[in-house]
Amino acid sequence: MLGQMSHQPLLISYQLRFADRFHHNIEVISRSVEGPIDRSSWGNVARRSRKLANALVAMGVKAGDRVATLAWNNNRHLELYFAVSGIGAVLHTVNPRLPLDQLRYIVDHAEDGVLFFDNTFVKLAQYIASQQLPVKRYVAMTDAANLPPDTHLPELTDYESLIAPHSEEFEWPDFDENTASSLCYTSGTSGNPKGVLYSHRSTVLHSYAAAMVDSLGICAGDVTLPVVPMFHVNAWGVPYAAAMVGSKLVLPGPGMDGRSLLELIESEKVTSLLGVPTVWMGLLTHMKSVGYTMTHVKKVTIGGAACPPSMIEAFEQQHGARVIHAWGMTETSPIGTVNTLLPKHAGLSAEAQMAVKRKQGRPLYGVDLRLVDDDHHIVPHDGETSGHLQIRGPWVASSYFRRDRDESHDGEWFYTGDIATIDADSYMQITDRSKDVIKSGGEWISSIDLENAAMGYPGVAQAAAIGVAHPKWQERPLLIVVKQPGADVTAEEIQAYLTTKLAKWWLPDAVAFIDALPLGATGKVLKRQLREQFADYKLPT
Ligand code: AMP
Repeated sequence: MLGQMSHQPLLISYQLRFADRFHHNIEVISRSVEGPIDRSSWGNVARRSRKLANALVAMGVKAGDRVATLAWNNNRHLELYFAVSGIGAVLHTVNPRLPLDQLRYIVDHAEDGVLFFDNTFVKLAQYIASQQLPVKRYVAMTDAANLPPDTHLPELTDYESLIAPHSEEFEWPDFDENTASSLCYTSGTSGNPKGVLYSHRSTVLHSYAAAMVDSLGICAGDVTLPVVPMFHVNAWGVPYAAAMVGSKLVLPGPGMDGRSLLELIESEKVTSLLGVPTVWMGLLTHMKSVGYTMTHVKKVTIGGAACPPSMIEAFEQQHGARVIHAWGMTETSPIGTVNTLLPKHAGLSAEAQMAVKRKQGRPLYGVDLRLVDDDHHIVPHDGETSGHLQIRGPWVASSYFRRDRDESHDGEWFYTGDIATIDADSYMQITDRSKDVIKSGGEWISSIDLENAAMGYPGVAQAAAIGVAHPKWQERPLLIVVKQPGADVTAEEIQAYLTTKLAKWWLPDAVAFIDALPLGATGKVLKRQLREQFADYKLPT
């Protein structure tokens, strides 16, 4: 017997319609590429998205076509999020930090027909135009006055002139909720990037998950500033969830440095921040250098890479904001686990609480997690035994776009490539990427634990641990450190400090200093590059 409830497909356009009707006057603010702050509202975003939808249809964009963006977090990008998916086309958010060969590959592989770009990326647009790729039309996300001159881009228009002649009326079409809505490529450690093709259904379900109290808690009471880029995993789904709940949204545009962020956080009275640890390192360093304490921020969501306990302490103790440590991947939309404390942790000492908070958190309803060993046997959730982390659920990719061969799935389970433990309370803790593990005498040493411990030492800005060949133990850890500006810390001091934090056999055999860690397109440390750089390193032992 079937239930007798209305069938309303889970479509992204319904979120925008809802925002227009019920959150009409809630502000959406963004820093423009030209500098000034754009002040919009959900009502205005909805109105302009309808004009854009008419413009896209008039341009010949059809259901299923891919429309690419090379853009920061800003109002026009937000309108593209809703308008492109809303007409049934697919929004392909391209990461402008990708190496050129990968950029070329993904635009070709996705068969993008139109490219919208912020003026910052005009050179990348020109590169794409020079490569005989499928892109036929280019739109600069600006107004006529700021249209870059002499670009020689075919069919170039500016965004404002593109939408200006079109009607504000548009009937968003209904279609199957499993229709593709957006596309984001993820770069593995080897081979070409792989496309993750989200659907309307997965995106809407993920929006509910993002709004849950035990999740990112995106809500109407917050002023939400996603620093996580809209070109990476749909800015963790924040734009959709914010439309649904009617959160005031503050989009930082190209200003991702500590000073620009702080200016916006304070002027817009931001209460909720979301981003990766490297961004927060920049903000914390800036606030320290100018002696500033944040006044309005209540929560800082940190994910994308392990959040060092020293960062949790800095936000919670110095700035009075709660840290929400979360884990996810491009393939998981991205939210998989989020760290919130249970009633039983309330009375614990700060140190005991930190032992919980440093973990990546508990799975949200909608995803299912398990650990398996090298032979695919399930390993216990005892907080001790580590294994390959697998995940499944309605917002987890079932395969990659236009890719037949796929070793990343074990039936319906997706292999994350992360090594983790899960404890009796279901807190998951990542110890490593499977390709980055350090194996000493047959035992795994967690590079993340080593790095987190090192980052707790004053004067250490960033740390990365890699395995270096050793005649007796096969591999031993080398710690690579970037000092805080002006800090005068030595290898001996760091090693002495680590002896108080780690088991003896986990201690790095040596500490090397470099000026900056190599970062990939999504801000993660490129361990492979470090391993190449230090391939001939001779450990003192
Ligand atoms: P991406 O698909 O580029 O977002 O990268 C996903 C990968 O980032 C995961 O598989 C993890 O290796 C890593 N990652 C994400 N969040 C965390 C976290 N909170 N702690 C440790 N690693 C993380």
